[in-house]
Amino acid sequence: MERKRISLATPTMHGEEIGFVQEAFDKNWIAPLGFNCDAFEEEMTSYLSQGLNEKYHTLALCSGSAALHLAYKLAGVKRGDIVFCSDMTFAATVNPVSYEGGVQVFIDSERDTWNMSPEALEKAFEKYPQTKVVALAHLYGTPSKMDEILDICARHNAILVEDAAESLSATYKGRETGTFGKYNAISFNGNKIITTSGGGMLITAEKSARDKAFFWATQAREKAAWYQHEEIGYNYRMSNVVAGIGRGQLLHLEEHRAAKEKIYRRYAEGLKDLPVSMNPYLPYTKPNFWLSCMLIGKGVKISPMEVMEKLNAANIETRPIWKPMHMQPVFKAHDCVCVEKKSVGEDVFARGLCLPSDIKMTEEEQSFVIEQIKNCF
Ligand SMILES: *Cc1c(COP(=O)(O)O)cnc(C)c1O
Repeated sequence: MERKRISLATPTMHGEEIGFVQEAFDKNWIAPLGFNCDAFEEEMTSYLSQGLNEKYHTLALCSGSAALHLAYKLAGVKRGDIVFCSDMTFAATVNPVSYEGGVQVFIDSERDTWNMSPEALEKAFEKYPQTKVVALAHLYGTPSKMDEILDICARHNAILVEDAAESLSATYKGRETGTFGKYNAISFNGNKIITTSGGGMLITAEKSARDKAFFWATQAREKAAWYQHEEIGYNYRMSNVVAGIGRGQLLHLEEHRAAKEKIYRRYAEGLKDLPVSMNPYLPYTKPNFWLSCMLIGKGVKISPMEVMEKLNAANIETRPIWKPMHMQPVFKAHDCVCVEKKSVGEDVFARGLCLPSDIKMTEEEQSFVIEQIKNCF
């Protein structure tokens, strides 16, 4: 019997989602905005503000990319402004900087979390002291070195934008990622830890910023009886239908995180005799383990692409690590600031591979994946 394909990460629905969606149908509220959007925002606000003095404001949007775009607008990115960006990340972190005419300068990763290196960030401020915005992604659900990054941003008077698209429910010293920056984004794309099929959210402690983002996201309609416009707007709101999916998913966020962690630990155990390591994290952080990744040891004569091909032949989906932005043709003219002789991002990209992390994967299926990986060495 042919094995069914083992996927990297696919949506996991539970049943409550369809109830909230049905309610939207029953009330014929098939539109952007509406009661599911309002409730989803409130529920996310209470989730993110747990244990904090500040209450976070949230804005449900059509994608994480839209949330990042509005975050950069709020941060005041204008034509020609440099923005320091995580180098090893998905393009969606950095593309919206270009929508505003900003110029990305990439900051290399460090080895302890694969996220933005504080040393490289400090060095970048020496080179480009006028920079006012830092865009930081928490890769694969692993929290970055927040104390160091926040300290550097504060000393240089820079605004931090957190791209927590992959890291919802991951915490740094007990605090949720997505609540450290001034303007932050999460994603509910289909492959993320919870999904709305497609969607995102802007997170900020500033009520006025949330209101301004709402204004831009709804075509910048001024308060008037007729359609009055004094600024360029966007159609970025989340639909009331998909917000229902999000409400149902949020009920299972912790359960998803726990299942992801189990998968990571089983890989760590199953691969411990091979010359590989797992994607690293700091002991005082709690990743959400969105994707488990392995890093092949230096000098080992097998490439991630060979492993990927062999696993694919066994009907197992894997993915390369995000290819660093400074290696992308579209950004070839952009600077990348490193502290090591060679870029850490390039090294991780050359030796790393994302492994199946679907929470519906059975233990038996994961053992099969582990066996197949072992056969490669
Ligand atoms: C998924 C993702 C995004 C974009 O989210 P969308 O909802 O797909 O627009 C942004 N940044 C990172 C790091 C992501 O993984």
